[in-house]
Amino acid sequence: MIESHESIWRSCLSTIKENIHEKSFNTWFKPIKPIKFESNTLTIQVPNRFFYDYIEEHFLNILKKTIYQVLGPTGQLEYKILVDYPNNPSKEQLSSKEIKNPFVIPGLKKVSIDSNLIKKYAFDNFIEGDCNKLGKSAGISISKKPGKTAFNPLMIFGGVGLGKTHLAHAIGNEIKKLNPDYNVVYLTTETFTNQIVSAIRKNTIDDLIHFYQLIDTLIVDDIQFLSGREKTQDIFFNIFNQLQQTNKQIILTCDRPPKDLEGVKDRLISRFKWGLTADLKSPDFETRLAIIQDKLGPDVEEIPKNVLEYICFNIKNNIRELEGVLISLMAQANLNNKEIDIDLAKEVIQKFVSHENKGITIENIAKLVADHFDVPVEVLSSKTRKRSVVIARQLSMYLAKNYTKDSLKAIGANFGGKDHSTVIYSINTVRDLIDTDTIFKDLVSELEKKVELSLIP
Ligand code: ADP
Ligand code: MG
Repeated sequence: MIESHESIWRSCLSTIKENIHEKSFNTWFKPIKPIKFESNTLTIQVPNRFFYDYIEEHFLNILKKTIYQVLGPTGQLEYKILVDYPNNPSKEQLSSKEIKNPFVIPGLKKVSIDSNLIKKYAFDNFIEGDCNKLGKSAGISISKKPGKTAFNPLMIFGGVGLGKTHLAHAIGNEIKKLNPDYNVVYLTTETFTNQIVSAIRKNTIDDLIHFYQLIDTLIVDDIQFLSGREKTQDIFFNIFNQLQQTNKQIILTCDRPPKDLEGVKDRLISRFKWGLTADLKSPDFETRLAIIQDKLGPDVEEIPKNVLEYICFNIKNNIRELEGVLISLMAQANLNNKEIDIDLAKEVIQKFVSHENKGITIENIAKLVADHFDVPVEVLSSKTRKRSVVIARQLSMYLAKNYTKDSLKAIGANFGGKDHSTVIYSINTVRDLIDTDTIFKDLVSELEKKVELSLIP
């Protein structure tokens, strides 16, 4: 007879019940749900990390014996833990998402952590040029010996759309390919910050830190967003040190060199510089051409060579933009039945020139926000503490940070000589309001739309 996970778990429970106090049984075993039974392995789901720890500490022996009794000597137990992923709540469970988790059960079975890696970002399709040679070759060495090269941490930095995320995933994927048992975890700084905020709220920081100790390779994307988030930085510092001391690989990406990270504590910046800092530069013309030919694959036949060259000639500093232009070009040609030629390429490129290239400035933003709030633009740089002006000023700083490449210092200087910590404070205030106030969130979206519209030539 094939037994179901429910009936097996019921058998286990009856054994467990005989061996522990009723109160403990109700507290720790009742909430557990059996999930599946396959290859003589029973998977159970526990509500959180704390539960798992408690069970491991207090009931491991009885569990081992029970599993032996019910499933025989080859029987195994696997845990699934519900972990909060505030960044991408699923529709059904608003604040928590089940991830195939992760925890090593001594004597029982090692479960692998969901790595969040995107498969399509590989070394094979990461075209090499002078612009990225160092990063790519360091990445390949790391994949062969994660944590055991001098490149720890590997810090990949470079401007928007130059392949930081692609390279970071490629390394992670390669490590997984060569060492399927390794726990590799990719996450954005945003997700990481959200985890920390939520752990602070629920008083589960120790669990979170414990979780990161189980990881063999940690990849954190876009660490410039650590700026101004002091608590997150402290916890990151802690996790970083633990991983480094146990020779675990750390890979970070950032849109600027570590020394230019404002609002990030010095002790963290100095850690970032311990390993190797690899700079991704803008690719030269030939590399750009090779990249888009590779991306297009067989579709490359559909686009005349001179058009490809024209595009590569005009879009120099952002590969994502290069891809965007190509996709849009093909779509335009298909939808409107137009021929793909230089004129059409010109039209499409116009729409794609990035914010920086179109010269959005702090002044433009201030003007736009002032108009929106119907106040003279000068008051934004005055000392006024009037509530509506303060909000308008904070919003302007927030938008300036997102839409210009200006430093916090420069932004502060434009709004009445504020120092960079005031700018960080303003940006965080806006972020908090966006998170908690939907009307405010809509206001920010509206202003963002205005900024973007003002960019169209
Ligand atoms: P970043 O994280 O630096 O902003 P991404 O890694 O997201 O940039 O890259 C943007 C796009 O450009 C992605 O689709 C990526 O596949 C592509 N890309 C970047 N560099 C290369 C490269 N060397 N070869 C192939 N594709 C690349
Ligand atoms: Mg990226």
